[in-house]
Amino acid sequence: MVLLYLRNTNIDARLSPYVLPYRKARKSRNQISIQESGYFEKQNGIATVQYPHETIPVPDNGRYKLHNEIEDCIVCDKCAKICPVDCIEIEPIRSAEEFGKTSDGTTKRIYAAKFDIDMAKCCFCGLCTTVCPTECLTMTKEYDFSVFDITKHNFGFGDMTIEEIEARKKEWEDHQAAKASTTPVADSTSISVKPVFKPRIKPLTKPE
Ligand code: SF4
Ligand code: SF4
Repeated sequence: MVLLYLRNTNIDARLSPYVLPYRKARKSRNQISIQESGYFEKQNGIATVQYPHETIPVPDNGRYKLHNEIEDCIVCDKCAKICPVDCIEIEPIRSAEEFGKTSDGTTKRIYAAKFDIDMAKCCFCGLCTTVCPTECLTMTKEYDFSVFDITKHNFGFGDMTIEEIEARKKEWEDHQAAKASTTPVADSTSISVKPVFKPRIKPLTKPE
């Protein structure tokens, strides 16, 4: 059954950019001087990839390091809500008015005072990228981001300065205060009581 599936899907053709270099890796590279031209261009027939000078190709839809194009983020929080390991931390600041548009034309009304992704906790499920309405959150091809200090795996994408954050927070607080002062206070004596619904029992009519 599996063999039939592989034959029908032509899996060899689809995997060829990734698998074939290894199928050809039957022998080590001939010893040549690093000073010779084309030393790093030799890709076939080698058993060892000379990393980091040579790298293996990675699939376009692979899941590696996350990136948020913060200019296109509307701070909707969907990515943080769906994340199974809570590694996305967002601090939103609401704005009283629209302050911009993303590249796909979506209105921006919330600032991101903080948008951190802790890749040390991430399980690379990709759910956050699938729910993102503006497609600003994507998996990149960057897989080599090892660090000595694990706290450096917490990547911040927010680009606001402390002064900007304070100013935006104050704007929102002022807006809320102004709104509260103009909202009329409801008169408790004039509250109309809704009549209680009482279902009537329909008299049973016997068929004649
Ligand atoms: S890939 Fe999965 S685990 Fe990683 S941040 Fe996105 S939702 Fe969370
Ligand atoms: S789902 Fe996308 S737009 Fe919404 S907060 Fe996350 S990255 Fe920003």
